[in-house]
Amino acid sequence: MPSDKLPENDRMLEHEIIQQLRVPPGEKIRLKDYDSSWKQTEELRLLGKDVVKATAQAYLEKTIAELAEAQELLYADNTYSVLIILQAMDAAGKDGTIKHVMSGVNPQGCHVVSFKKPSVEELDHNFLWRYARSLPARGRIGIFNRSYYEDVLVVKVHPEILELGRLPPGKRGKSFWQDRYDDINAFEQHLVRNGTIILKFFLNVSRKEQKRRLLERLENPAKNWKFSAADLAERAYWDQYMEAYEDAINATSTEWAPWHIIPADYKWGTRTLVAGILAHAIRRLDLKFPEVSDEQKQALHKAKKELEQE
Ligand code: AMP
Ligand code: MG
Repeated sequence: MPSDKLPENDRMLEHEIIQQLRVPPGEKIRLKDYDSSWKQTEELRLLGKDVVKATAQAYLEKTIAELAEAQELLYADNTYSVLIILQAMDAAGKDGTIKHVMSGVNPQGCHVVSFKKPSVEELDHNFLWRYARSLPARGRIGIFNRSYYEDVLVVKVHPEILELGRLPPGKRGKSFWQDRYDDINAFEQHLVRNGTIILKFFLNVSRKEQKRRLLERLENPAKNWKFSAADLAERAYWDQYMEAYEDAINATSTEWAPWHIIPADYKWGTRTLVAGILAHAIRRLDLKFPEVSDEQKQALHKAKKELEQE
């Protein structure tokens, strides 16, 4: 990656911010300690919202340009894939984040999969089956808009969903969920060992901001289509969801597949941070375009001659 894209001090700031958002493996975090607005540090507070927003937007533009090139390099190198996992409450901005962060990337190198309620066929398999079938190939960026984490989130909040599948009998208590976390960790470790870079994002929107966004969907005719009564029903389980998220994040933020808690009350902030973490992860691979060997150069020369003499 050409290093002239971001000045050195921006790089350091970028690194520092990413460290702050990353959930340290083995530590027990509490979601309520994470600010969902733009005012996450004293430094940012002092700068003020206008400056923070303008800086974030300029950085996002640069990062989107960098990502276009990074993706091409990932494709040319054909060793690694990147799996982005987006999890959040409704209206937290998952779709908008995908649209903006990937706006510069070649659609052929990027694969977005949205997971809804599992079908009958999907329920007839192990819970990781449908996700395993949708993983990105080497050289590609895959985005999971919701993921197997739903199986320890919505399903944990509404355990009756489990009865739709035909799981063997047994208690559905603490150790059942711990087994699922262990399965997820093992699955992710398997993917990482095989060349997948996994980046997990929880878009942390506040209850208040979700209310504002849902109201906007009801009041603005252009946004009516986005409203779903189910979102309101799930909102009633806010505290249970936060508990399920906290448990899942604490159990599955690992060295090989860390969680990032992204403040999501300001859309520009969310997009900038997700794009930055993605660019940073690909840059760290330090990929180079494949070198052409002398033999290949000779073959190219021969092909050129042949074409010219046609
Ligand atoms: P949306 O992404 O807003 O279109 O909604 C998709 C819905 O599917 C959400 O309500 C999710 O909670 C639900 N969903 C996704 N994955 C699962 C799953 N594994 N089990 C049950 N419900 C799910
Ligand atoms: Mg929805």
